[in-house]
Amino acid sequence: MPCLTRRTLIEATAGIAVAALAPRIVLAQTAPPPAGPFRQDPLPYAPNALEPSIDARTMEIHYGKHHAAYVANLNAVAKDNPQIAQMPVEQVLAKLGELPDAIRTNVRNNLGGHANHTMFWQVMGPPGHRPEAEVAAAIERDLGGLEKFQADFDAAGLRVFGSGWVFVTVTRDGKLAIETRPNQDSPLMDGKRALFGNDVWEHAYYLQYQNRRADYLKAWWNVVNWPKVAERYTAAKAGTLGI
Ligand code: MN
Repeated sequence: MPCLTRRTLIEATAGIAVAALAPRIVLAQTAPPPAGPFRQDPLPYAPNALEPSIDARTMEIHYGKHHAAYVANLNAVAKDNPQIAQMPVEQVLAKLGELPDAIRTNVRNNLGGHANHTMFWQVMGPPGHRPEAEVAAAIERDLGGLEKFQADFDAAGLRVFGSGWVFVTVTRDGKLAIETRPNQDSPLMDGKRALFGNDVWEHAYYLQYQNRRADYLKAWWNVVNWPKVAERYTAAKAGTLGI
């Protein structure tokens, strides 16, 4: 039988009283991360750092609920299918056809979503940058210059029917192209690399922009982290760019 001293009894009783009075919202902030091999990288800036282009509440829900759900789903799949966590994400996505039928769609959606969002948080940041020299030159050479590129990228993002993404893909020799994908599909599934991309799911903009996807696409350019894009471009040419 456990030894219940008078002191612990008082503490336990006090604890019950405090717990009864404490606001219940505290519980929501202390949920442990789901057990499993997949993890979200920390958001590399505060949720309000992208305002006014993207509001803090959208960022909190997008990172803390939508992306987190993809990761939780992956960890659930990984319990019985540990092989999905035993290779780099880009390799699993490039070989979805080799997965068992029973988990292929689940992995496609959730690992695709995890890869896309991991990239997405990285390539955004507080405003104040322009494309750096080498990326600017590649945009000029392959995409008709910054102004035309941004107009074409936004038009492609606007044409995505329903939910999906618009990307700039990059080859090993540094060539750029605009590509879109539905749902949480990724160029990684075709063995390609995304230099960067924008999420055009409604969850990425609806709180602030409602149906005005065009306004969101336009405002998004203010928060592109061009120094990070330059790093990714260098990595792509070195063959070391993953997700
Ligand atoms: Mn999203």
